[in-house]
Amino acid sequence: MDTIAAIATPHGTGGVAVIRISGSSAIARADEIFRPLHGKIPSQMDGYTCAYGHILRDNTVLDDCVLTVFRAPHSYTGEDVVEISCHGGRFLTQKILRTVLCDCVRLAEAGEFTKRAFLNGKLTLTQAEAVADLISASGENAAKCARNLRDGATFRRISGFSDTLLELLSDLAVWADYPDEDIPSVDFSNLESRLELLHSDMKKLMSTYDYGRILREGLHTVIAGKPNVGKSTLFNALNGFERSIVTDIAGTTRDVVEEQIRIGGYALRLSDTAGVHETDEQIEKIGVEKSIAFLQDADLVLAVFDVSRPLSEDDEKLLSRLPMERTIAVCNKTDLGKQWEIGDYGFSDIVEISAKMLDGMEQLETAVEKFAGLFASPAEDGMIANERQRACLSEAISAVQEALDALHLGLAYDAVTVSLEGAADALLQLTGERITDAVVDAVFTRFCVGK
Ligand code: GDP
Repeated sequence: MDTIAAIATPHGTGGVAVIRISGSSAIARADEIFRPLHGKIPSQMDGYTCAYGHILRDNTVLDDCVLTVFRAPHSYTGEDVVEISCHGGRFLTQKILRTVLCDCVRLAEAGEFTKRAFLNGKLTLTQAEAVADLISASGENAAKCARNLRDGATFRRISGFSDTLLELLSDLAVWADYPDEDIPSVDFSNLESRLELLHSDMKKLMSTYDYGRILREGLHTVIAGKPNVGKSTLFNALNGFERSIVTDIAGTTRDVVEEQIRIGGYALRLSDTAGVHETDEQIEKIGVEKSIAFLQDADLVLAVFDVSRPLSEDDEKLLSRLPMERTIAVCNKTDLGKQWEIGDYGFSDIVEISAKMLDGMEQLETAVEKFAGLFASPAEDGMIANERQRACLSEAISAVQEALDALHLGLAYDAVTVSLEGAADALLQLTGERITDAVVDAVFTRFCVGK
């Protein structure tokens, strides 16, 4: 494979930047452009050692740097790798990268280092995907989960499923291949209970998908309520409250204002349906209707009520449509005095605030954190982290269900075998042990250059 190079650290001004070179010409190229101040040139250095020296271009010193040599297969990619730690700064780093590039070293594509690590067996596909998630993880909990996945928790869990399937398949094969021998036939209830256990374990793993999605994309949170209860004020208070606006998501096409904020260790994609009535008087009348439509997709609803005024028909309408177990009741305008108390409707939580005076915001934050925590599953046991993995696992679960159905219908064990082979295949695709080039390419294009 040819030799590749890229800047491995984030772009922008930083104290130190790292340029990574990987491939069979990496060390020879380092000999050409690096002059150590003491000691050995790169080709004489052992793996895992570094040297201090100068990067040269046309005999001019560009920068002083620390150069580290990793020898195949003991490197991130499994190939010979050289890492040059130079002074940060976009201009200088780019200049050194250009110096590194030559006829035998080309610029790496997005994710190419990690792709090579995968192709050389240094990482499983689920671990490689976790590296991508780690790079883009927003929020402390997301980063923690991605780190655990990088350590192979999902792979181990899936391998356990695969082992069970292979055991089942081999039992069935022995019985089918040697019907005349004196081998005890496969016991129906034993087969059934093993399949049922496998099915329920797989479904347990599948339930971690929501948590993965929430960590990756943020908890999709909708602020709902009738006009004038203080939705926009709350929206702005939450944005300002944590002062950690990550991105502006253009929500204009969906007629909502969307903002990504951070609360505790969680990212929230916050939609304010109140944005609607500011632009269209007609819509103000159907503000509640509009809010209700958004509730269907929401992970969490912050239902805002004005406790300084009596409960109205609109409030009641909203109350009758809220997904209570996913709703935190936010009783606003407490600074104006409480006219009424919200009843026990089965809300996930109830908090009293004054969005205007910023009272009670900590309690709201605690309630949101508590709610987000309900989705949490111990990441040490593995987690379904993206849509690709979900689709593979879902296929495997359906195939095991088919096997169970075949068993219950009294079909020949051949039918069970075919379904179980399908399940095993889907799991091999999940872990990347049996996968097409197209899928590998699709996975790695999610990366940034230099990883
Ligand atoms: P929305 O229509 O639900 O988005 O409501 P707004 O956020 O636009 O607020 C409507 C009015 O209520 C504005 O005049 C706000 O200043 C006021 N308001 C919002 N929250 C509070 C609060 O906690 N206390 C008081 N006194 N006024 C508030």
